[in-house]
Parts: sequence; C-alpha cells; structure tokens
Amino acid sequence: MTEQKPSVGFIGLGIMGQHMAGHILAAGYPLNIYNRTRAKGDALVAQGAQWFDSPGAVAAVSDITITIVGYPADVEQVYLSKGGIVAKARPGAVLIDMTTSSPALAARIAQAALERGISALDAPVSGGDVGAKAGKLAIMVGGETSAFNQVLPVLELMGANIALMGKAGSGQHTKMANQIAIASTMLAVAESVSYARVAGLNPLQVLKVIGTGAASSFLLNGLGPKMVDEDFAPGFFIHHFVKDMTIALEEAKKLGLDLPGLALARRLYLTLIDNGFGEEGTQSLYRVYNAIHAEAG
Ligand code: NAP
Repeated sequence: MTEQKPSVGFIGLGIMGQHMAGHILAAGYPLNIYNRTRAKGDALVAQGAQWFDSPGAVAAVSDITITIVGYPADVEQVYLSKGGIVAKARPGAVLIDMTTSSPALAARIAQAALERGISALDAPVSGGDVGAKAGKLAIMVGGETSAFNQVLPVLELMGANIALMGKAGSGQHTKMANQIAIASTMLAVAESVSYARVAGLNPLQVLKVIGTGAASSFLLNGLGPKMVDEDFAPGFFIHHFVKDMTIALEEAKKLGLDLPGLALARRLYLTLIDNGFGEEGTQSLYRVYNAIHAEAG
C-alpha cells in the first residue's frame, strides 16, 4: 500500500512559484493553490491542482502551506491579516515562506504561528527562474529542526542545495548575504561588458574567455550575454532586487555595518526605476553605463 502524501498549499504563482508548484504537483502531492491574479493558476488547475479563493482557504485544507509572493507587505498580508494563513492553518501544519522578505517579519510570523501550535519556516531561494524551472534552487531555511525535517522531502522537489541556517529569520539573513554579493557582482559585470564594448572588443568573445577564468560567475555567464544583446526581459525584476537591497541595507545598519558597494548598486538601480525600467530584469543595469557613455561621447 502506498502512503498518502501530505497535502500542499501554494500561494504566489509568478515567475518562480509557477515552476516550484508544478514540481510538487508532478511528484503526486495533492496541491491547493491561490494567486492574486487567478489566470496564473489555470495551467496548474488543468493538471489537477485545486483552486481556492484566499490564502486562508488554502491553509485551512493543507498540511504544508508554501508562499512565494512579492514584498514583505504581501507576506504580512497573506500570513497575519484577519482570516490569513496563520489564523486559518490547522494546528500541526507547517508554513514555509519562500519570498525574499525581512528577517524580523519572519520571526514575527514564527511566533504568531507557534502560539497556535503551528510551525513556520522562512526559506528564501536563489538560482532564479532557471533554477526554479530545473528544480535546482539553493534554499536557505530558518526555523525549528523538527519542522525542517518534516518538510525536507517537499523542499527537495524544488531545490538541489537545502540548508537549515538557524532559528526563524536565519534563512532571510542568509538570503541578504546572497543579495549583497549579487549587488556588487552586477556592477562588476555591467562595467566589464561596457568596458569591453567601448574598447572595441567583441564583448561576447570577451565573456566567453573571461567566463572560464577567475572572473567567472553565474551572473557573468548568464546575464553578461543578455546585456550585450540588450535583452532586458525579466528573470528577476529590478523592483524586487531594490526591495532586497533596501532590506539588506536596513539590516546592515542595525548591525552597525557600512556596505558602500551595496549602497551604490541600490542607488544606480533606483535611477533605473525613476526612468521607468523597474519591470525589467536586473541585467538592465547595463543601461546606466550605456547612458554614461552616450553622454561622454
Ligand atoms: P512575481 O512573478 O511577481 O510573482 C509573485 C506572485 O505572487 C505573483 O503572481 C503575485 O500575483 C503573487 N502575489 C503577490 N502578492 C500576493 C498576495 N498578497 N496574495 C496573493 N498572491 C500574491 O515574482 P517572482 O519573480 O516569482 O518573485 C517572487 C519572490 O521571490 C520575490 O520576493 C522575489 O524577490 C523572490 N525571488 C525571485 C527570484 C527570481 O529570479 N525571479 C529569485 C529568487 C527570489 P500577481 O500575479 O497578481 O502579480
């Protein structure tokens, strides 16, 4: 006899969530879904997922509820509002927020959940839409070991490198360390491609050579060619990246840390938002250097 799989709720079916939820459904878990824009759930419903009309309604029928929405304000709303996930989840359920959000909010949700006999983990991810599609995300988790062990088989459907980093909020702190590294790397890649172009080299050829040397990175090899092609379609929205850098700067300030690379990257990305490019992908940072070059020329 096969053992019945726990039911999984999934809220937030955007660039990341639609693929992550798809892996869970494909593995045979009963899947309950909700998203702000209903049409984004249609493909999953066609494959057997069940639609519910609110985050609370999903949580009320799910053993495990997963969220990957946009901003901390969205996380607060879906978890802590009246009739939200924490209010409606069943005692013994495990909640997993995979949004990139604030460490302090993750700790608040874990406490509110605990008071109702529910476990809550923060489990933000890295690896982009490519990693989500391939089920190969890095997943950094904060919360109790017992809840982590309970949901590990489900996390393994979405990620290839999954680590429990400490108490509630530790997953988000780890993700901030990740975003801090990405911020300065994006500057470096955009500057390198701009330099190669203005120096009269073939920038794609340059990326091919340096992409196997000491400067090699996921961002250089993945987003460098998109900068050259001026392909600014979003894999990761600028709006979301600025949200992450703002959280990271606030957390650094609380820790008494000065992070000038992060501050500069955030300032340059804000100029892109001011110019109407917030819905583009983060590789659009290349525009800043194109504009600088055009002015100088
Ligand atoms: P996205 O495409 O905007 O997806 C977010 C989804 O959540 C959207 O479908 C949105 O609904 C839904 N949503 C937002 N607020 C909601 C609410 N209050 N109730 C119900 N649904 C709600 O963004 P994404 O790229 O998948 O990113 C999601 C999160 O993962 C962000 O925090 C981002 O920073 C993080 N992240 C993204 C990447 C990446 O490469 N894309 C990588 C790592 C981490 P609508 O359809 O109505 O907009």
